[in-house]
Amino acid sequence: MHTDLFIGNAWRPASTGERFQVTNPATEETLAEVALGSESDVDQAVRVARTCLEGGAWRGLSARKRGALLYRAGDLLEQRAEDMARLETQQNGKPFFESKIDVAMTVETLRYYAGWADKVTGDTLPVDGPFFTYTLREPVGVVAAIVPWNFPLNLASWKFAPALAAGCTVILKPASETPLTALLMAEIMEQAGFPPGAFNVVPGSGSLTGRALVRHAGVDKVAFTGSTDVGKQIMRDAADSVKRISLELGGKSPNIIFADADIPSAVKGAQGAIFYGKGEVCAAGSRLLVEKSVHDQVMTELVARSKKLTPGDPFDAKTRLGALVSQKQQDSVMSYIAAGKKEATLVAGGNATKVNGKGYYVEATVFDDAKPGMKIVDEEIFGPVLSVLTFDGVEEGIRMANQTIYGLAAGIWTRDVKKAHTVARAIRAGTVWINTYNFYDSAAPFGGFKASGFGRDLGREALDGYTEVKTVWVAL
Ligand code: NAD
Repeated sequence: MHTDLFIGNAWRPASTGERFQVTNPATEETLAEVALGSESDVDQAVRVARTCLEGGAWRGLSARKRGALLYRAGDLLEQRAEDMARLETQQNGKPFFESKIDVAMTVETLRYYAGWADKVTGDTLPVDGPFFTYTLREPVGVVAAIVPWNFPLNLASWKFAPALAAGCTVILKPASETPLTALLMAEIMEQAGFPPGAFNVVPGSGSLTGRALVRHAGVDKVAFTGSTDVGKQIMRDAADSVKRISLELGGKSPNIIFADADIPSAVKGAQGAIFYGKGEVCAAGSRLLVEKSVHDQVMTELVARSKKLTPGDPFDAKTRLGALVSQKQQDSVMSYIAAGKKEATLVAGGNATKVNGKGYYVEATVFDDAKPGMKIVDEEIFGPVLSVLTFDGVEEGIRMANQTIYGLAAGIWTRDVKKAHTVARAIRAGTVWINTYNFYDSAAPFGGFKASGFGRDLGREALDGYTEVKTVWVAL
């Protein structure tokens, strides 16, 4: 297992010699001691990435060849999928089957953007006068991809794959809880044949390594996924150099069950929407809005299902609820549960627990009688905690759904086609799922409205974020 920095296709310790511990949250064992990138390491990575960008190694490579490298990386990752998924589960605590899905999705993302590499084009423009005028889409430059710990590899690929396809070079800063799969990915990228400096990984803390990347004048764009507070800090730090930024931030997504929905499938969907990924999912359906007339039926089924969902060893094939990523995260989730117990009615879960005497687990927790203004309704908990609110009629449902600073995602459960589309349009969120939840595809753009950020990952839209548009006028 590699634990050093990956800069210019070379593995090296931090300039300061500093290392930080990575812990398996399910067993509390130390997994690795990883090099902590210093300001000088960041500077070195930026120089190497820029040399690669501006020198022959990368710029000289045709778009089609860049695509071929991404395809090859996808194939190599597929061959090492089990190793990668195991490492993801060990560092994050999520069930092994979920990590396998994450890796498979990453392979798809690499292939999807491999296909785009030679299809990034400009336009010819019908301007007035004797001119031939056209646009070029040029790579934005050196990209710092700063990612969180919940889908460590997959979310990183949402950034580095389109960035590389567009011709940028990348420095990836994984979260300090989960740097190991990024480092294994570096090994794969080198094996695939990416030239030195095209893809670099500099693990470390957010306050030191992440911040140094954001403030570095040689970084052209910061592609960030993480919390809204850190997103705001990045906006401030990026302002001095007028850096391009894209921010995928937090959420408190509404999942609306209308009375005319197929209730068993809506309840099943609502449960998956909050408890998949232990609720450590930015788009988690953490506010369940239930139409009054079906409230009791929904709650009976939801509580029964939630009580059956017990935390388990992430490597047990039957486990559907793993360990939270860290003790810090467990403490934070438990403080929300304590607040919820004072404000609303606890109907399932509510306890921190251990499996085989170890680990930072939290039971699948459901609060009924929740209302806007409560901490558990207004704030992102980022854990397996669902707040259930009741509404009466479409208008109130829409109003409550939009009663949040966030706008990442939403779910709608109804059999009425007109209602489904009307509500989908009225909700201020970047993704709306109708009669389903938590589906993602490399072709489908993902990102936020309001305090959930701006810019889009995935789809053609992500590529736009890694290019600058240049307009060229030729007098005829
Ligand atoms: P975080 O914001 O604490 O950290 C995210 C990354 O930013 C980490 O790599 C961290 O080291 C780095 N960082 C921290 N401070 C920094 C700074 N000042 N400058 C530069 N980098 C810095 O988030 P987290 O706790 O790792 O992840 C959870 C959060 O991420 C939640 O709020 C969740 O909603 C959000 N998230 C959003 C999406 C999305 O697509 N919108 C997806 C997953 C997670």
